[in-house]
Amino acid sequence: MTSFFTHLECTRTGSHYNVDGLHNLSAEGAPLFARYDLDAVRHTMSRDDLAGREINMWRYRELMPLRDGDQEITLDEGFTPLRTATRLGDWAGIPGLLIKDESVNPTGSFKARGLSGAVTAAAARGARKLAIPTAGNAGGALAAYAAAAGLESYVFMPQDTPSAFQIEARSCGAHVELVDGLISDCGRIVGERKEAEGWFDVSTLKEPYRVEGKKTMGYEVAEQLGWELPDVVIYPTGGGTGLIGMWKAFEEMEHLGWVEPGHRPRMVSVQAEGCAPIVRAFDSGAESAEPWQDARTVASGLRVPGAVGDFLMLRALRESGGTAIAVSDDEVLAASHDFAR
Ligand SMILES: *Cc1c(COP(=O)(O)O)cnc(C)c1O
Repeated sequence: MTSFFTHLECTRTGSHYNVDGLHNLSAEGAPLFARYDLDAVRHTMSRDDLAGREINMWRYRELMPLRDGDQEITLDEGFTPLRTATRLGDWAGIPGLLIKDESVNPTGSFKARGLSGAVTAAAARGARKLAIPTAGNAGGALAAYAAAAGLESYVFMPQDTPSAFQIEARSCGAHVELVDGLISDCGRIVGERKEAEGWFDVSTLKEPYRVEGKKTMGYEVAEQLGWELPDVVIYPTGGGTGLIGMWKAFEEMEHLGWVEPGHRPRMVSVQAEGCAPIVRAFDSGAESAEPWQDARTVASGLRVPGAVGDFLMLRALRESGGTAIAVSDDEVLAASHDFAR
């Protein structure tokens, strides 16, 4: 396959970066987005060409950050079921409710998509040691994909992270360090030590390719619904990669002519009341979010007090006509029981 991956673009200034380097944030400190020659993709393939391809997220390879000759590091992540949840929808008053079941991914969450993307790119560019701050799932996913690629992984998680995540990462051969603090403290430690240790930092949105993995959720939902998009996407939001990635996918698909322009879903961000920086910023009309003090919630994956992609999340919520809401831990726990029943 010929690559359509042309360059990286700063999400704040639009400045360009080459596809060959190991990049973190732009010179302006903003996330980088992978860009493609979408006109060429449009002329080379149609969405019907996807039929019969591999049952994982790399089926969208023309829209993935692969250079000529790059080999993907995959454990068959993605192409997860989109389940019809009729009884739950009736109970909740939401006809047509669908659930994208990301729990069937390798390592049990959609973090697998992002880390498959990031480890593929890092390995192809010669990185040997990868480091990550994590609330749990991202650490397990990095450990698994680093093992698949034969790379070393260094995982930093808060010391009160549920033990299953620690065991998962260690089992896959990661060096796990428990930190007295939150994911933001873990991120600071990675930042301080990475140069001396020779680590490549794969923190959320601090390298360009986790979001490319997560955007495939947007492509899949469209393909699974016969190239119509849902009215609303409700997303539990931490660092925001999934929300930002799906919004990017919708934009790309419009450009490709795969979905009708002007019918993108309203995006709804859900956070916990004990850690809701995006909800607070959305409500106040701010373009970026202040870090949340004393973050606490039972939803450990949502305990992200500050996110480098905050302005991209807020932009997507507003452009889509969506909203952001906070729920209490009691509501989270009660809903998880109702949901299971
Ligand atoms: C990471 C995570 C989230 C948040 O996803 P982001 O894309 O980082 O906002 C939500 N739920 C679970 C289970 C997670 O692991």
